[in-house]
Amino acid sequence: MPTPAPYAVTEAVSQGRRFAEPPPEGRGEFQRDRDRIIHSTAFRRLEYKTQVFINHEGDLFRTRLTHSLEVAQLSRSMARALGLNEDLAEAVALAHDLGHTPFGHAGQDTLNECMKDYGGFEHNLQSLRIVDLLEERYAAFDGLNLTFETREGILKHCTLANARKLGDVGQRFLVGARPSLEAQLVNLADEIAYNNHDVDDGLRAGLITLEQLDEVAVFARCRREVEAQWPTVAGRRLIHETVRRMIGLMAADLVRQTAANLAAHQVETLADVRRAPTLAAYSEELRPQMREMKSFLYDNLYRHQRVVQTIDNARRIVIDLFDAYMSDPAQLPLQHQHRAQDDKARAIADYIAGMTDRWATKEHQRLCAGGEFC
Ligand code: MG
Repeated sequence: MPTPAPYAVTEAVSQGRRFAEPPPEGRGEFQRDRDRIIHSTAFRRLEYKTQVFINHEGDLFRTRLTHSLEVAQLSRSMARALGLNEDLAEAVALAHDLGHTPFGHAGQDTLNECMKDYGGFEHNLQSLRIVDLLEERYAAFDGLNLTFETREGILKHCTLANARKLGDVGQRFLVGARPSLEAQLVNLADEIAYNNHDVDDGLRAGLITLEQLDEVAVFARCRREVEAQWPTVAGRRLIHETVRRMIGLMAADLVRQTAANLAAHQVETLADVRRAPTLAAYSEELRPQMREMKSFLYDNLYRHQRVVQTIDNARRIVIDLFDAYMSDPAQLPLQHQHRAQDDKARAIADYIAGMTDRWATKEHQRLCAGGEFC
């Protein structure tokens, strides 16, 4: 591995784990974090959770799992280019969506509404809750006992009220400090990944067209480049060549601008990174184009009639499940019934959030087909 940049996170400057453990043999602390995430139950469930398209709509669409792998790939590449800690970036990327509910954002928004009188629900906070508390794999502690740096990377945003309850990882929100550059980079790798794969999936599903996408400057520019070089290319190859250029352009821009920001702010150490404004950023030129792409996808894909139809169904399922368990917690699996004795609504939210799309659908049929609970 190349020598890390002086502002990279290293084991020497790590704030360590909540429960002290002997150092790992034959791998580093951040590799251990990554390994623990990959072996977790929550990680395996990502395979059957919706990204944008409901899991059963087609085998070729992204799921939360393939999305997370794409984010990890982008994060590692950009971390290496900047001399950062690739293992940390990979660990944060693989864990960043662990807290997502079934049925994508519709599931999260609905569960948040169900939880409005009980502290709300937020997938980002839930990812942290999974790695800190909910995974049951180790004899000595709850959760995965990850390093501080992986945990702070998972917690991308947080209200001040929640930050006060979270101890060490909440601290930076209270004092206005930044997380590591690795964490900042993963945040934008997430955006690069979903903007591009949603274009690809949206075209594959026939919900958006190449003609519509020509309104989006960065797409039009990359498409023209492909067509200039390969005048006869069409169909899937044209789409892939265009999308891969967009990914390359965005990643290269981000690396270049971040390096320029590091120089401009004379960042020399990790402490400097935490004190400086957010350093991982696109160039002035690309920023409005990223916004344009995002709002295009919002208007034309995420709010497309066919996507919205699945949202209504997802909302119904989450609301019915929440109400059914609230009225009869004995319908929960035993371990969740135990948790429900302390905080019924939170235990139910944890259980629903952990479901895959198809498990939620099956459980909804079990509870509601006879009309007994719904
Ligand atoms: Mg994501």
